[in-house]
Amino acid sequence: MSHWPESDMIVLIDAHHLGLRVKELAAQIEADMVELNPVLVVVLKGGFLFGADLIKAFQRPFPVVFAAPRSQREDLLITPEDEALLHGRDVIMVDNLMDAGGSLLRLRDRLQRFHPASIRVAVLLHKTVSNAEPLRVNYLGFEVPDVRVVGYGLDEDQRYRGLESIYTWLPSHRLPKEHP
Ligand code: 5GP
Ligand code: MG
Repeated sequence: MSHWPESDMIVLIDAHHLGLRVKELAAQIEADMVELNPVLVVVLKGGFLFGADLIKAFQRPFPVVFAAPRSQREDLLITPEDEALLHGRDVIMVDNLMDAGGSLLRLRDRLQRFHPASIRVAVLLHKTVSNAEPLRVNYLGFEVPDVRVVGYGLDEDQRYRGLESIYTWLPSHRLPKEHP
């Protein structure tokens, strides 16, 4: 076990259950893609471990493209060589967390320019929000509460990305200590 998680952190979803769920999602995606021409678009940076585990679980080859949606320059979203991999293909956008959905919605709009045949969305974690989602999620791992989560690709100032489970912080760590 890694020494990285700190004492006030708790496991929200452990590595074992993450692994089982990712395998289920991979099977679902693969079944839906039988007649199609898929390409995984892995959203950097958060989606890289989820994307890697999906690829390992697939029984057939899937082309992979990495997208850097935080880039302000349109031409830096994906490499020019990868643009051709999107044309006419059935895209599965892979990210590890959706909150209000704005980030993935913007990315989907930018990907439309490369003329894919279709675009689906796979997210490992979804934070439950009260307002209607702007974007339909086709493949969802887990609903999580609206708390800060890290691990399995998700960072806090570049830390915790390598943790194999999803962690959060105990609510009590922000409260003043009880008087003895
Ligand atoms: P949305 O655009 O769906 O509202 O926000 C999604 C993005 O916000 C995620 O891709 C991630 O970058 C960031 N985010 C939201 N909640 C968390 C969290 O609890 N932990 C981390 N590490 N990032 C988060
Ligand atoms: Mg929220």
